[in-house]
Amino acid sequence: TPILSFKEVWVEYGDKVVLERVSLDIAEGEFVSVIGPSGAGKSTFLRLVLGQEGPSRGEVLLDGTPLTPECSPDRGVVFQRYSVFPHLTAIKNVMFGMECAGSPLFAKLFGAARKSARDEAAAMLEAVGLGHAMDVYPAQMSGGMQQRLAIAQALVKRPRVLLLDEPFGALDPGIRLDMHELVTALWKNHGLTIVMVTHDIHEAFKLGTRVLAFDKRRHDPHAPNRYGATAV
Ligand code: ADP
Ligand code: ADP
Repeated sequence: TPILSFKEVWVEYGDKVVLERVSLDIAEGEFVSVIGPSGAGKSTFLRLVLGQEGPSRGEVLLDGTPLTPECSPDRGVVFQRYSVFPHLTAIKNVMFGMECAGSPLFAKLFGAARKSARDEAAAMLEAVGLGHAMDVYPAQMSGGMQQRLAIAQALVKRPRVLLLDEPFGALDPGIRLDMHELVTALWKNHGLTIVMVTHDIHEAFKLGTRVLAFDKRRHDPHAPNRYGATAV
């Protein structure tokens, strides 16, 4: 079975058709880039995968079963900004990611269990290149460091699918290249399945093993609010 499967999915808001009969399968280990103009339905697509929203018609399946709610070990997500908690240090941010995965509340862990949670979080921070910044707060971090932290927080859940929503859009070009290297290495080393929305078509083809183009196509010229979008 594919990890992620859209079966004849429609999303409609009133008269507006945002996703029109989208069917697609994503296999384990794929790195799928999603591109398309503003308003084409990319965020809607991600919200469906996160389970924040259900389709108007059709089915979205994770590992062959309908999606469960948002805070779940199945999916980790990184947004362009504000993915991490400003009032928590790097290591606490990552431990919070574990808590979201259904692990016991870290504050209530003692002794060995607490130590192992901390060790796991520390190893994840090492993996994203933040081994030196475990006790640093996000406000003291550069944009690139914050995105590294967001990736660590998402990955510590060991998600089936990692979702990246324009993760590097706010970063300087040089930093973006560093992040490309990091994400590619994590993807290869951890056998991740990644779905990344980006406005950068070069990035989409550079990182993705497959590129989905969402279109904002008018199906009826007399109905200005009618859009349809799907993967090609
Ligand atoms: P993208 O992420 O590609 O820019 P979106 O998924 O955000 O596109 O939006 C696709 C279309 O759906 C837009 O026209 C947007 O205005 C519309 N839309 C998104 N969410 C809602 C909603 N909750 N109610 C009404 N229209 C919505
Ligand atoms: P038909 O209704 O005759 O199948 P469509 O043009 O609606 O013709 O769809 C043909 C294919 O294009 C389908 O696979 C459909 O999912 C896809 N498709 C539909 N709307 C869009 C869109 N806005 N952008 C890209 N592909 C689309």
